[in-house]
Amino acid sequence: MKVNYGLTIPISTVDWHGRVSISIFFRACPFRCPYCHNYKYLSDPDIIDTAEIEKDIIKSKPFVSSVLFSGGEPLMQIGALKHLAAFAKENGLLVGIHTNGFYPDRAAELIADGLVDKFFIDVKASPDDVEMYGRIVGYGEYESVVGTPEEIVDRVTRTVDIVAASDVELEIRTTVIRGLIGSADEISMIARWIAEHVTDEDIPYVIQQGLFENAMRESLRETLPFDRDEILELAGHAHEFWDNIWIRVKDYGNEKVKFE
Ligand code: SF4
Repeated sequence: MKVNYGLTIPISTVDWHGRVSISIFFRACPFRCPYCHNYKYLSDPDIIDTAEIEKDIIKSKPFVSSVLFSGGEPLMQIGALKHLAAFAKENGLLVGIHTNGFYPDRAAELIADGLVDKFFIDVKASPDDVEMYGRIVGYGEYESVVGTPEEIVDRVTRTVDIVAASDVELEIRTTVIRGLIGSADEISMIARWIAEHVTDEDIPYVIQQGLFENAMRESLRETLPFDRDEILELAGHAHEFWDNIWIRVKDYGNEKVKFE
């Protein structure tokens, strides 16, 4: 089987908090987020045989407990993803998937087939603010965005609803970008939306620092990232609606925020 392939990180401790993983990045994505730092994987294809990735998984197997699929958007290549997830499972490894939420039916299929242990879903803005969601995924700026903002928020909402109603682990995250997304009101709106859609209070909401040196939109490359204190302040606003808040900052890693 063929896969449009980006990169493998043989041993990673950052892509799945609390686990050591081999991380496999697929190419291609239906979105064009202006801050995307993997944008080189969005256009030029590199088609290889999945057997090559299987060899990588076997090499990493003694050192990892899980395989993490990222991208790009791994659910875009559901055939290759299912094949490799099944291979990981046969080898006794857990499967995690980073997704932008655009493929709810495919997420449901993976859950039904028992091929995924954890989804990490981007909620890039509040789905209640359709226009903002469209802007964040590059709608109107890049022609290759698939779907309208209305379709995109509907699909992201369905993906979160499907995973939240399953017994698969879930992490929801938002990347904050100065001048694009990350005001107190915007983060509060996202946290309120989560509280309306998710009942399991153990599900973490992660506010992660966007880094822009390699952003797709050139004018973003000089943008100053939010620092830890600023993101902690945003966490406080999210906490008005959701208890289990984490922040992810380059120099500090993952931190669960403790509130008084
Ligand atoms: S969802 Fe956005 S940030 Fe993620 S790979 Fe696609 S374009 Fe890049």
